[in-house]
Amino acid sequence: MEIAFDKLIRLQNVDSDLNAALSLLDAVPAKLEAIDHQIKATAEIVAHAKDELAANQKKRRDLEGEVKDIKAHVAKFKRQLNDVKTNKEYAALQKEIADTELKADKIEEEIINEMISADDIEREIKAANGRQTEEKGRIEKDREAILREQQEFETRKAALLKEREEILPDIPPDQLKLYERIGKRLKGVALSPVTDDFCSICQMRVRPQVLNDLLGRNALITCEACGRLLYVQKPPENEHGPVEIVDNPDKVDDSPAE
Ligand SMILES: [Zn+2]
Repeated sequence: MEIAFDKLIRLQNVDSDLNAALSLLDAVPAKLEAIDHQIKATAEIVAHAKDELAANQKKRRDLEGEVKDIKAHVAKFKRQLNDVKTNKEYAALQKEIADTELKADKIEEEIINEMISADDIEREIKAANGRQTEEKGRIEKDREAILREQQEFETRKAALLKEREEILPDIPPDQLKLYERIGKRLKGVALSPVTDDFCSICQMRVRPQVLNDLLGRNALITCEACGRLLYVQKPPENEHGPVEIVDNPDKVDDSPAE
């Protein structure tokens, strides 16, 4: 029995891609939520302006009612002028009429101001509606893109899981078990290629003896620092020696995950 390095490397590639696809899928709900939030925020701006306009209209109606009442009073006072007996009473009533008319003028001025405000609010609503329509198009496109991506990730995930199932039977159980155990501890990365005598993941130098054993491709050896299974990228042409699994259980179980 030799070490199924090629299969293990293929499995590691599949698992890395699979983990990447899974984390992309995990991020989808938050992205969709952010889109919903954008839609809500834009709608809120329009709703707020509409509330403002409704309040303005109500205030105008109230003020108009007030003016109507005041004018009725003025009319009543004016009728009373005919019945007044003394000059003093006449002057007093005329002053009352003038004061009341002044009050009505002030309210009418207020009504005009409210009408000007209403024009501003209506312009605001129109602008907000325009922005909403514009943003809605953009936001919907973003949402479609996210959903399309989600579909792609799902397809990729399914293909990778299938590929994984195809590789598994070709790996001897004890080797697979070790791979799974290390991967589980080290965020799904159980294998590390040796590059220029160094573990390419943790950058620990690999001892010459270990390197020599790895070149033979007939031993599973873990990195003394990170605990991952080391391998050399290009197999040499020499013959395979006896299989030897050299695990560093202490390192595998106790070294901190990266
Ligand atoms: Zn390492």
